[in-house]
Amino acid sequence: MPKVMIAQNILAANETLAQGLRQDLTAQDIHSINLMSAPGAGKTTLLERTIERLREQLNIAVIEGDIETSADAERIEAAGAPTVQINTRGACHLEAHMLRDALANINLVWVQLLFVENIGNLVCPSTWDLGEDLRIVVVSTSEGDDKPAKYPQMFATSQVMIINKLDLLPFVDYDVAKVRREATAINPHLQIFEISCRTGEGLNEWCEWLLTFARQRDLSPTSSS
Ligand code: MG
Repeated sequence: MPKVMIAQNILAANETLAQGLRQDLTAQDIHSINLMSAPGAGKTTLLERTIERLREQLNIAVIEGDIETSADAERIEAAGAPTVQINTRGACHLEAHMLRDALANINLVWVQLLFVENIGNLVCPSTWDLGEDLRIVVVSTSEGDDKPAKYPQMFATSQVMIINKLDLLPFVDYDVAKVRREATAINPHLQIFEISCRTGEGLNEWCEWLLTFARQRDLSPTSSS
C-alpha cells in the first residue's frame, strides 16, 4: 500500500474517534477548545491568565500536551484548574485517542469548559481533529509576522487568532496590520484578539468573549474536515 494511503487511513480513524468525542462532550454540555501555536507563543501563560480571571465563574479543566515534562500542567494546576498532562514522547501533535485516554482521568461532571493545549507546532496539529468545538491559534510578536502566510492551513482551520505579546511591539519588527490582513485573506471569518499576557492588555475583551462562548447553548459543529 502506498504511504499516502496509510496516512489517509490513520487520519480517517482519528476523524471517527474525534467525532465520537465531540458527541460525548456535547452530550455532557462541555465546550472544548483546541489551543495551538508555535513553541513559546504563550499558550500556557494565556491559560494561566484566563483561569485566574474566570475560575469563579466557569469550571475549566485543561489537558496539557507536551513532548516531555509536566512543567506546564503544574503551572495550570497552580492557576486553579484540574489538569491532565499528556507526554507524546516525540510526537509533534495530539491525536484523538490521546485525548480520549486523558479524559478518563478528569471528573467531567464538573467541567463546563475544556482546554486542550496542543504541542507547540504550527504544522501537524492543524490536520488532526480532536473533537473540539473551537480551534484557536496563538501567534506572538516575538516570532515574526510571516506566520499566516507560511502556515496557511493552521489559520484556515482555526476560528480564532490571538496575537500575544503586544508589550514587545516597541522592540520588534512586527506588523500587526499585516498579520491581520494575511490571516483574514486565508480565513475571512477569523475572530481576532490582540493581547499581552504580561500587561493584561486585551484580556478583559478576550475573557468576556470566552465566557459568552462557554455559556452558549447550541454550538454548530466546527470539524476541521
Ligand atoms: Mg505550554
